[in-house]
Amino acid sequence: MTKTKYHVTTVHKIAIFPFGMINAFLLKNSQGCILIDTGLPNTEKKVEDVLNKLKLTFSDIKLIIITHAHIDHAGNAAKIKALSGAKVIAHNGDLPYYRGEKKMHFCSTGWFGRLFSKTGVIQKPYEKFEPDILLTAKEKFNLNDYGIDGEVISTSGHTEGSISVVIDNDKAIVGDLISSGILLGGIVRTNKAKRPPFEDNPLQVSQELQALANKGVKTFFMGHGGPLPQKEVLQHIGKLKNIATDID
Ligand SMILES: [Zn+2]
Ligand SMILES: [Zn+2]
Repeated sequence: MTKTKYHVTTVHKIAIFPFGMINAFLLKNSQGCILIDTGLPNTEKKVEDVLNKLKLTFSDIKLIIITHAHIDHAGNAAKIKALSGAKVIAHNGDLPYYRGEKKMHFCSTGWFGRLFSKTGVIQKPYEKFEPDILLTAKEKFNLNDYGIDGEVISTSGHTEGSISVVIDNDKAIVGDLISSGILLGGIVRTNKAKRPPFEDNPLQVSQELQALANKGVKTFFMGHGGPLPQKEVLQHIGKLKNIATDID
């Protein structure tokens, strides 16, 4: 069997909101590019600006990976899917939300989450879409066909259908499995881990983060703030375990 040839992949941050408040990511190598998360509805210009800087257009996007169903990640998926013609991969656990069949529930992790919930912004419905590739349970999706030494894996906990992307075994884009900064995330203290404003299951999150660290992931890219080094993530795992025991 011939080994697939890998090309160096770079992670480019797309600032949907500035100061790390909301990030999407573009993975790029000589084979093309993959978009991870799509940002809030009507923010495609932010994605286009980064594509243009790299001398690319929407049609260069070969795959769109949606880390989970919250509006700041999946809200513009339908539009970017139409603009790029790329396939969308997501996890079955969040499918009812992608299809607009169910309203999301939010487990607030603190005062900001509770206050933010009251604004109703996060519960706003967005244009529904049908993922082309649907992961179930702990199923993985290999990115070798895209010339990338990486895989999409299930990392439930923030939401049931949360997924992460591991590249070159040492970098991961983890959506909202972990966050940093203040309020929604970003702005300041972007190097300090914290829980996102909403989190379904802290114990499960701690286990998924630990599994990523055990795999050898050294750098964690996130939807809000970051990136964080493994050391900071390990400290956060310890705190999450304590929260989980308090809840029990
Ligand atoms: Zn989220
Ligand atoms: Zn988010």
